[in-house]
Amino acid sequence: MQPRIAMSLALNLGLLLSTAVTVNAQAPPTLTPEQLQRLTIRPIPGKEGLYLLPGFDGALSGGNVAVLVTAEGVLIVDNKFSYSYENITRQIASVTTQPIRYVLNTHHHFDHAGSNADFMPSAQVIGHENARINTIRNEQAGAPPLTYANRTSVFVGGVEVQAHHFGRGHTNGDSVILFPAAQTVHTGDLFIWGNRLDGSTLAPFIDYANGGSAADWTATLDGLLALDFDTVIPGHGPLLNKAEIRIFRDKFDKLVARIEDLIAAGVSRAAVVDELDIADLNWPLAADRIQAIFDELSE
Ligand SMILES: [Zn+2]
Repeated sequence: MQPRIAMSLALNLGLLLSTAVTVNAQAPPTLTPEQLQRLTIRPIPGKEGLYLLPGFDGALSGGNVAVLVTAEGVLIVDNKFSYSYENITRQIASVTTQPIRYVLNTHHHFDHAGSNADFMPSAQVIGHENARINTIRNEQAGAPPLTYANRTSVFVGGVEVQAHHFGRGHTNGDSVILFPAAQTVHTGDLFIWGNRLDGSTLAPFIDYANGGSAADWTATLDGLLALDFDTVIPGHGPLLNKAEIRIFRDKFDKLVARIEDLIAAGVSRAAVVDELDIADLNWPLAADRIQAIFDELSE
């Protein structure tokens, strides 16, 4: 979910040997058998044709991949890292012989749309129009050739899949993907939950370089919450319900309100990190992240 993590991971692994260093440089990590088990494709209980290929972070495991299997092909939502194509296609082949015909992107980040280019020869890749712009501006491969502005649908095997854009949040190109018949959504990183594969705790990331907004985030979540669903695939984390999105939304609202209160009280950019008390939210936010929100809310 954040370019910096993959960068430091790659640096730690000593894999960046040339001066051609980019934030997209990636290589598969070595995972334990337990970690591999947690990342194995599984049916979503009670949701015919829907599978989850789990993902818990932006470093080791990537984002969650939703897999819809129909009699006329497969649709997936997101595709992890640039090295993930072989793993994803092999895991999907373990549950169906149908071809992957559609790839929907929740946003452009390298841990969600990283292997777009590998799918393009044989599948339609679809993303929000700003996700395409962000992909190109960041010089990532695989900009989605099919885009939409507010809402679009794909019909495969008689099943409708909807993509909705409710405004700015994690980026300015976030899509929420709804499977109406299964009452299930993939939220992308507008909603994340729990711990990374390494046990550290996830916190929301506002990608200001790509149009993200803390001020708009809760309104964007309200758009998502107005959809009809009971089961939630977060950008990263376990399968959840609508209630957890409401909890996340209220925590985010508190975060923004508290920073706004400090700004109104005249607290400086330098002091806001020490003055802000968000221990109850259990979101480890680095000082520069808090100050970036301060900057946005001070505008
Ligand atoms: Zn992300």
